[in-house]
Parts: sequence; C-alpha cells; structure tokens
Amino acid sequence: MATSACTVTVRGVVQGVGFRPFVYRLARANTLAGWVLNGNEGVEIRVEGAGDRVDAFLRELRTDAPASAGITDIAVAVAEPSGLEGFVIRASRSDDQPRVPISPDLALCARCLAELFAPADRRFRYPYINCTDCGPRYSIVTRVPYDRESTTMTAWTMDPPCEREYHDPASRRFHAQPNACPSCGPGVMLIEGDRVVGASAEPIARAAALLRNGRILAVKGLGGYHLACDARNPAAVGALRDRKYRKEKPFALMVRDLPAARALVRLTPEAEALLASPAAPIVLAPARETLDRVAPDSDELGVMLPYTPVHYLLFAAGAPEVLVMTSGNRSSEPIAYRDEDARARLADVADAFLVGERPIARRVEDSVVRQTSRGPVILRRSRGYAPSVVARLPASRPVLALGADLKSAITLVVDGQAFGSQHLGDLEHFDCWRALEESIRDLLEMYEIRPAELLVVRDAHPQYRSTAVAASFHESETAVVQHHRAHVASVLAERGAWGERVVGLALDGTGYGDDGSIWGGELFVGSIREGFERVAHLRPAALVGGDAAARHPVQAAAGFLDQVETPDLTAAPFDFPSEYTRSRRLLETRTRIFSTTSAGRLFDAAAALLGFTRPVTFEGQAAMWLEWLARAAPEGEPYPCPMHGGEIDWRPLLRATVEDRARGRDPGETARAFHAGLACGLADASVALCRAHGLETVVASGGVVQNGLLLDRLVASLEAIGIEVLINHVVPPNDGGISLGQAALGALGPCTSSPSR
Ligand code: ZN
Ligand code: FE
Repeated sequence: MATSACTVTVRGVVQGVGFRPFVYRLARANTLAGWVLNGNEGVEIRVEGAGDRVDAFLRELRTDAPASAGITDIAVAVAEPSGLEGFVIRASRSDDQPRVPISPDLALCARCLAELFAPADRRFRYPYINCTDCGPRYSIVTRVPYDRESTTMTAWTMDPPCEREYHDPASRRFHAQPNACPSCGPGVMLIEGDRVVGASAEPIARAAALLRNGRILAVKGLGGYHLACDARNPAAVGALRDRKYRKEKPFALMVRDLPAARALVRLTPEAEALLASPAAPIVLAPARETLDRVAPDSDELGVMLPYTPVHYLLFAAGAPEVLVMTSGNRSSEPIAYRDEDARARLADVADAFLVGERPIARRVEDSVVRQTSRGPVILRRSRGYAPSVVARLPASRPVLALGADLKSAITLVVDGQAFGSQHLGDLEHFDCWRALEESIRDLLEMYEIRPAELLVVRDAHPQYRSTAVAASFHESETAVVQHHRAHVASVLAERGAWGERVVGLALDGTGYGDDGSIWGGELFVGSIREGFERVAHLRPAALVGGDAAARHPVQAAAGFLDQVETPDLTAAPFDFPSEYTRSRRLLETRTRIFSTTSAGRLFDAAAALLGFTRPVTFEGQAAMWLEWLARAAPEGEPYPCPMHGGEIDWRPLLRATVEDRARGRDPGETARAFHAGLACGLADASVALCRAHGLETVVASGGVVQNGLLLDRLVASLEAIGIEVLINHVVPPNDGGISLGQAALGALGPCTSSPSR
C-alpha cells in the first residue's frame, strides 16, 4: 500500500475541548505519523501513512470527535509524504492570533461522573473534578489565549500527579486548564451565619440536610449563584418567593436524574437529548405533576439535570429529588456571581451558602429551551451555548451588533463567524449595562478587533441604552437597524439565507418603529440583501403611557377598546380596577397617549377582558396566562380578524371577546377563539402577501412567537396550502436574538451606514 499524506484544518470550537488528544489517539490507532497543533484558524493536522489508514482517520475525525467540540469546517489538502516518524502534539504556533473560539461551559461528562463516585479514585467526591471533555470554560476565562494563567484557576498550582496528566497527550486531562484534585485544587465550604463547615464531604452533607429540612440554600454554580430549596415543600417554596420578592414568575427546577425528570414532565426523545447534552439547559416541557407555587398559571415546568460535580454530590448526599434552582438574585436583578456581592445581596434570602473557592470570571446564567411541536426553540441562550458561533456570516469586516435593551445579548462577527454573547439581562439594571460593556470588551479582546475596523450596529430606539453605547464608539462606523426587521432577519441569518425573499412576520411586545410609534405586529416583504419593506401591520391602537402600559393589562385594554363598543367594564363580569378609569380619562384628554401596533399589547387587552386585571409581575405574564387559559379549552370557531388595505383589523376580534365574556361564555373557550382568530387573521394576511409578491415562505419571529398555541395554528394554516414557515432555532425569537439580525442586515443589507464622526 502506497504512503499518502495530507494536511487538515479543523475549524470551530476545537480548543479546550480535548481535540488534540483525540487527534493524537486517532492517529496512533491508525498507525499514522505526523503532528497536530492549535493554529491560527483552528486545529492543524498533518498525517502520513497507508492510504486506507489516512482515509479511516479522516472519516473518524468527523464521526468520533468529542461531543463538546463544535466543528464548523474540515478542510483537507493532499501533501507529499516527507518520511515523518511517530505522531506528536506540537506546541501551539507562537504567532497565534487568538481567533479560535473559546468553548462554552460544559456539563460534567460521564467519565468524570464515574470517577466522582469511585471510592478508589483520587478524585472520589471531589467537587471540582473536570477534564478536557467537561467543566468550566467561558465562565473562568479572564483573557486569551486560553491557558491556566488566563483562568480563575491561576491561584492554584497543580501537584505532581495533576501536572503529569496535564502534560500527557494520552490523558483525558491533557491541557485541561481547570485540572485539579483534592490535594492541590479549590474546595467547597458551607457558610451558615458565622459558622463555616469546611472539611471534605461535610459541607455537602450538611447542605443536603438543610434542603431536606425545608431551608433555602445559596449554591455557587458555574456562572453564578443559585437559590435552592425542596420543590415539593410548599412552605419552603413560599418562603423563597417571599424573600426573593418573586411573586409569580415560574421557578426552574433541577432534578436528580433523567428518570426523575421523566416523572415530572413529558419529554420527547429530542428534549431528553437536550437535557443530557453538554450544554445541559433548562428544558420547558408539559408538567405531569403540579408543584405548589413553583409555576403558577402554567402547564409547563422548566427542568434541568445536575451539571456540576457539586450538584451530583448534593443529590448523592440525600438532597430532595426535585429542587427549585433559581437565579441567585432578588426580583429582577441580575444573578449574583461574585462571592462578597452574593453574600451581601442574598443574606436575607438564603439560610446558608454552599460556596466553592474557584472564582467566577463572568456572569453566565442557565440557558432555557422549550420543547415544541416544531423542535427545540431556545428562549435564553447563555450557559453551554455562549460564546459559540450562531451563524456563518460573510461580512467583509468585523461587525458588532448591540441587540435590544431587554434581554440584551450581543453578536460579534469575525472572519465570517458570528459569535453570540451570553444573555446579559435588562439594561435598565446598572449591573447588566456593565455586563454589556464587559462583554463587548471581552469579545473585542479575544478576537483582537480594533474599534476603527468595526461596523457597530444598533437599534433605532433613540432612548435605548445600547444606542448610547453605540455612540461611544467614536472611531467606528455605525449602522441602525429597525427592531422588527432585525427579528425577521435573525431567522434567515441562522440559515445563511441572505438572498431569500420572504414574507416576514414580526410579532412582539414593543420596538421603535420607522415613524416613531411603538411597533410590534408587522408584516414585511424582502430579503436580507435587499432589505425589508413594511407592507402590512396590525391596526394602530392608542397606548396610554407608552411602554409603561406593558405593566397593566387594563391600561393596554383601555387603548384598544377605545375603538370598540363595550359595556361598562368596571362592572361585572369584567370588574376592571381604577387604572382603567384613569386610563380612560387620559384618553379623553389625549394626555400621554402613544400609538401602537403591538401584538403583545393586543394579547394584554384580551387577557384583561378575560380576567387578568391585576398588574403583571414579569414581562409577558398576561399573554402567558391567556395561552394557559386557552390550552385547557377545546378548539372552536375562530373569531373574525380581517385585513383591509394592509391593516389587520383586531376590532371584530375584541368585539367578539367582549360579547362572549359578557354573555358568560367559558373564559377558556373565549381565549381559545381569540388565539385562533388572531392566528387565522395573520395567516390570511400572510397568504395574501405571498400571492401578491409571488413568495412561498413566511418567517415568524418576535417575543409573541413564543406563544405555541398561536404559532401552531398559524403554521398549520400556512402549511396546509404549501407555504413554508421558518422560525428561530439557534437564537431566541425574543429580543435575545435581535443582535444576529442586526449584524446580518448591517453587514449585508442595504441599510445606510454612516461614519458617526
Ligand atoms: Zn470530564
Ligand atoms: Fe422584540
């Protein structure tokens, strides 16, 4: 057999995930000579040997790669054999430009888990066990390139056994930067008032006992602190709600193992795979069990599996099988991740703190994915996913897109790869705003981008804080992309469909429109390359108090119902409270009145009519309540919702809602008919636009697309007549996905960009 040779370049997330040791083992197994190294663009490989062995190597390189590696591209070039002997891992190139993506954080792997509970292993019950297949990454990186000194592990010096593993190419811990063991690495302690429990297994056993006794525990995780308690203990859950000032927003759960998860929620095979994946997100799935006060007014539970050694140790030490595991914060503040800050902010919430010594470099919250009839939809993209690539985007220069102010997340495009940051929170919080600035700095430093070469893309909202951040880039060119066009573009950008012409449907709570009014129910025609023209929208309604109306469904209702005949809504069965009367008065005097086409506010109005007359305690609550109400009812006749001259008229829809409610029809049935009516109205409008423009694809995005009942009905109507519907799968449909659409339109679209100087 003739000797053949080739060079291979593997791109994607291939550093810090055990890729070189994998290549080393694969080459040795195929008796190939050559080398592997971390190069400028990814992992570079040279192999020489028997032709069939080289073929086998290339095949297995694709099929057997570590689960946590995210390969985007493998380029193979044939080379002349040069008589190499043996296979080696070479030092990284000294001229390395740090353009190789940093890996997201990874859940504990199966082999480390086995060692964690093997009494003979030197890391038996060690809370910081990890290897190149698993453990912290992004949450411990302080600078690039990624090596031990550039992580929060720099304070610990490896002992000789750890050092040996670290330098042994055959070891799973070869260049595992957070490598540690009980004799050289960080430990955990339990802090209970003035008492500190520190030695070995004690703190975990004590923590598990506290949880069993209904106490609230602050637990330091990968990217921040959690608050934990027994989810099946209503008193504990209630105490957590009271102390955290979180009245109704659902709590996430962590369950002991997959069988326990199956008992709690109905899981598809796809959802099970997600739960057990290295990203280990929170998965929202239909509940089988009702847990008091965990997720009020919802038929779903958000469930995740243990993903750090500490979590596994807690369950093994007898912690309750189902734990509330919610962000360590109060109310809507950002999650705490620095030790002193957490101790101060959570002092009145947690009965005790289970604290690991390894510092967290940056806040990375749990990711949230919903299992839907159309596959998984990511609602919060953070731990396990950030800062990995969300799309390939052929921009001619680096692009920084700043997203929206709610659910902030940024996108940086470098060398044709779009990197998505973690969820940064709502920029009205100073901490989140600072996190945005840190995130920008992190990404620009990691990829060595100078502001002068950068295109900065921002939302059109003049009052957004991200707009002010954009203005601080004095040397950069800037571009402005309208909110709802960015939503639509995000779906197409995920798929690399730059030129595809579609009908784009943006259904949203709020966003700044071209005319300065509040948009949120918009239909566009166009593509990323040519841009999106607004061709239809919801009929405008008055909005009392502008964006502030999002807090009071009756305030939204007052504006919409100004155009609909109604009985006295302050009387039964509506019983609207005084905010409604106050809003009516403002409408009469035309004080603080704005104009809106927001689908989110239309849902709020309907929710108010059907009984949600109190203020919301979290964003989108009234609409979620309305969907929950509707889900319990059977499918019925949809209410009418026609389109006239590019305006989708919701008046008949609300009129029917008012009449049926006044007549005493079941609120669930009414809510269902409202959903179906709006879905049919939107479907009819989309079909009319598809026909008028010769198109066969509809793109749907925006926060309201998270409403599964509305989306399913819309999709069913369109697919029945052969129109394809595309939604987000890589970035969230809510404002967390905006920055990808901004980057795509800013870099590839027709939008007018101008130097900010
Ligand atoms: Zn591992
Ligand atoms: Fe939005």
